Amino acid sequence: MTIGTRIWAGTLLALSALGMAACAQQGVATDALVSADADEANWITHGRTYSEQRFSPLRSINAETVGDLGLAWFADMDTARGQEATPLVIDGKLYVTTAWSKVKAYDAATGQPLWEYDPQVPGETGVKVCCDVVNRGVAAWGDALFLGTLDGRLVKLDRETGAVEWEVVTVDQDRAYSITGAPRVIDGKVIIGNGGAEFGVRGYIAAYDAQDGKELWRFYTVPDGTEGDEAPQHLKAAAETWNMEALASSDAIGGGGTVWDSMAYDPDLDLLYFGVGNGSPWNRAYRSPGEDGTGEGDNLYLSSIVAVRPDTGEYVWHYQTTPGETWDYTATQHIILADLEIEGTQRKVLMQAPKNGFFYVLDRETGEFISAREYIPQNWAKGIDENGRPIFNEETRVDVTGKPALVMPGPLGGHNWHPMAFHPGEGLVYIPAFEAATVYAPEADWKPDRARGFNVGFDLGAGDLPPDLGIRREVYGTVKGKLMAWDPVAQEPRWVVEHPGPWNGGILATAGGLIFQGNSSSEFAAYNAGTGEKVWSFAAQTGVVAPPMTYSVEGEQYIAVLAGWGGAYAITADGHLINHQGPVRNVSRLLVFKLGGEAQLPPERELVSLPLDPPPSRASAETIALGKEKYARYCAVCHAPAAVGSTELPDLRRSGTLGNAQSWKAVVYDGILKDNGMVSFAPSLTEEEVQAIRAYVIQRANEDKVLEAGKAVALSTAP
Ligand code: CA
Repeated sequence: MTIGTRIWAGTLLALSALGMAACAQQGVATDALVSADADEANWITHGRTYSEQRFSPLRSINAETVGDLGLAWFADMDTARGQEATPLVIDGKLYVTTAWSKVKAYDAATGQPLWEYDPQVPGETGVKVCCDVVNRGVAAWGDALFLGTLDGRLVKLDRETGAVEWEVVTVDQDRAYSITGAPRVIDGKVIIGNGGAEFGVRGYIAAYDAQDGKELWRFYTVPDGTEGDEAPQHLKAAAETWNMEALASSDAIGGGGTVWDSMAYDPDLDLLYFGVGNGSPWNRAYRSPGEDGTGEGDNLYLSSIVAVRPDTGEYVWHYQTTPGETWDYTATQHIILADLEIEGTQRKVLMQAPKNGFFYVLDRETGEFISAREYIPQNWAKGIDENGRPIFNEETRVDVTGKPALVMPGPLGGHNWHPMAFHPGEGLVYIPAFEAATVYAPEADWKPDRARGFNVGFDLGAGDLPPDLGIRREVYGTVKGKLMAWDPVAQEPRWVVEHPGPWNGGILATAGGLIFQGNSSSEFAAYNAGTGEKVWSFAAQTGVVAPPMTYSVEGEQYIAVLAGWGGAYAITADGHLINHQGPVRNVSRLLVFKLGGEAQLPPERELVSLPLDPPPSRASAETIALGKEKYARYCAVCHAPAAVGSTELPDLRRSGTLGNAQSWKAVVYDGILKDNGMVSFAPSLTEEEVQAIRAYVIQRANEDKVLEAGKAVALSTAP
């Protein structure tokens, strides 16, 4: 630990004053970051503080005044893709990232644009990402901002002008690595991970020198079979938990374990915490088979929370939430640090609600398991034993049984990337939670494909919904979204607000006694932090998934949220069915509110839907079946399962190319639309398979055309 990072609690306030004074001269320094909580006006790091509590001490917008909250200003974004960023605000200037890793700077009080930066991410990068071309934000250090780009670059920008100071490539760009997460900076080291575990990569997190971009350390989360004597001890230990022969074979695709989102830092303990993602492929039987061909081993450090020294990347401890994970149960979800009184003792804890549906409380000094309780219904575990190890429901171990199973939660998770918030006064963690089960159907004779498409080892078409609208509506009706106020000491909910559908926004908690969250009903709302009563709402004209944040300029408090429907669930769900109330649309726009704000949004644009007018379906049943199989693996993750048509990306049933084999080939096989993100699938599909997919989509379009006339009526009479 260097001098300057060792900040004792008693000196925080004094240091804050110093940090503020120093800020004008040398920008964001360690002292400012360590004492960010005391700096009420600004929001200088992703989760507002290193503890990532997303709690603001600002209180002029509160339960009494919130009725006067109105739009102060707004800014339209230049894309209509997913928006997931948390803006930073530093001394009256707001910095936000948008889809395709673009950065925009505004005057935080007036909304006047100051500068913008476009890293020119190639459109074809879009096919390397599971969950939309999103970005979650920048990090600040000194007078610079740091951005991770979708194509794996780390870029340093001059905070005043947006000019590039340096950029480094942090990944092998020949593999399907991507960056969507926000970097963090600890004592001049820029920390960034990456994603791609659905496509076959080996996960790691790395640190770069803020001054010159030099890579300082890299921490791999899974072994790769080359672990010799010089390998770090944590990888030698991990190798004991894998079938290393399989992992090192030519069929292996990296093991996964990407570090694509959460980090937190405790300056007193000098520990950096991060969450590790799912296995690659998901199905452990293909990733780490045992002697009988079924999955075996815990496969460290998949689905784990790991603590390292930020100076060196040296391993300190880990806790694995889902040993031998096989269901895409990432532990990359938001990590919050807090001090809680548990059984009469003050404990320094780390909290997480990973995808697997349990809320975990760990001792963050040692990694010791304190408690876990399910926060949503789940069926993969019968409980968690006293050592923190789950007791599996063997029927859901599809990697062992080889048989399909309906498992709750599914890959959406009980909670995804959407940030939680912790209110220290209430002692509550607010969770944007979901209920959504999935059929995991092991795929026989599965083979990896490094070139394109999802590499998960399951038949992704097995859970497709039938064309019958009634059944689809029934299934969507079982998929839920919730805002949960969770007591982490009692391990139980204090209150729950039910949303009409899942994929609701990240959360902000304030000392004004308020919780802010957007939702899939195109609403941005405030709730009483103690009771969950909705006390204010705003018609956002779009689904909101990003987390709100707050700041003040010249003593006036603002609330900002980046609106825009998108991300994993949004691009794959039938936007018409999510809420039983019409399509969830994407209007990408930064919304900023203040008391007495009187700005007005322009009138809502009418949604224009192309006609559903496919050519007749004349292909053979075999061709359509082949097309269905290939569609599920290569198309569904962007264009929705069973081609039901997401509201964000092109609805293939309505594509003008559907009736013309040559035009279809030009797009899917030749890749003429690659700059839009639609690359050539020639590396993975034959021309015959490409046409079989067209035949399948024609078949699906004809099925849905029959339903289309009755759809509006059916929806309006839905229960
Ligand atoms: Ca995943």
